[in-house]
Amino acid sequence: MLENANKTPLSEYGEFGLIELLTKNIKLKNQSTILGVGDDAAILNVQNRYQLVSKDLLMEGIHFDIRYYPLKHLGYKAIAVNLSDIAAMNAKPEQVLVGIAASSRYTVEAIEEIYAGMYLCCEHYGVDLVGGDTTSSVSGLCISVTVLGYAQPETIVRRSTAQTNDLVCVSGDLGGAYMGLMILEREKEVFLKDPKAQPDLDGFDYILQRQLKPEPRLDIVNKLKEKNILPTAMIDISDGLASEILHICKQSKKGCCLYEDKIPIDVQTYNTAMDFKLIPTTIALSGGEDYELLFTIKQADYDKIKDINGITIIGHITDANEGCMLITNDKKSIPIKAQGWDAYLKKT
Ligand code: ADP
Ligand code: MG
Repeated sequence: MLENANKTPLSEYGEFGLIELLTKNIKLKNQSTILGVGDDAAILNVQNRYQLVSKDLLMEGIHFDIRYYPLKHLGYKAIAVNLSDIAAMNAKPEQVLVGIAASSRYTVEAIEEIYAGMYLCCEHYGVDLVGGDTTSSVSGLCISVTVLGYAQPETIVRRSTAQTNDLVCVSGDLGGAYMGLMILEREKEVFLKDPKAQPDLDGFDYILQRQLKPEPRLDIVNKLKEKNILPTAMIDISDGLASEILHICKQSKKGCCLYEDKIPIDVQTYNTAMDFKLIPTTIALSGGEDYELLFTIKQADYDKIKDINGITIIGHITDANEGCMLITNDKKSIPIKAQGWDAYLKKT
């Protein structure tokens, strides 16, 4: 019985049956959602706010490996990474639309599990799932999420507006998600060699959670608002600190000066990197998938920000001709690069 409980083929439900199954319990949470799932389109009330739109696509084999990625986490992450893009604009996400294409390898129960993770994230952040599209795929799973957010026009924060002497700030800590992935990959290799081997994930809870269940930093957006701080520029860290600070500097036509010893790295990330013979700073700079916020503020806001928990000042913005530099622990100034970590690797 239990064996079969998990094995309903998608064909048994068909497209409309599956949509009904996946969406029947939706309760709308936002005033801006006039009509959700069920008609040809959702109806939204924008009022006097600007609307922000973003989409992220997750492909099996490219963005996730279903052999070690729990389906519920996958659903949670698919929503979370989209909410993070709205957080990075200093706005509030209120609706998502979900496109899903699955091959016959996936059962109805598997898709329900993905949706359970999606709804968990939507619930946690007060977001309505208002529509989507469902189709089959010849190979693998594809999840595409579109998110809609809102903000008063004057509070929206772009990447392109950092000013010289602004302070560069980052939320949380960096590199954890990448080291979590390294642990999952290592255990996968062990399992492929010996399917009877038990995964050894003890002691890696924090970094595994950083990889499997990233959280959009909407709490930081709210804290900044409470303290009356409007960042001058902002981006979320999906590809690593180096790549993101270069985006801010390039689009703002500025340079920067970051300090290696200021970059926040959790002790579990640090120790795991050392075990893998990797340099923790390199991982924080280029690891990616941390979904923390990287932002700049006016120097005048220093007193307001210094007491907010979970925000670290890691440097400042300079004129473009000074370049984008990292001051290392041994006081060398080296250019920040998005790829090719030779400079960092050579230093030890
Ligand atoms: P159409 O033929 O007009 O594209 P569909 O039958 O695909 O309509 O969708 C019917 C309704 O169900 C629409 O409101 C659509 O947004 C919603 N929907 C379809 N697929 C999904 C999904 N995977 N998740 C959430 N809502 C969905
Ligand atoms: Mg459709």
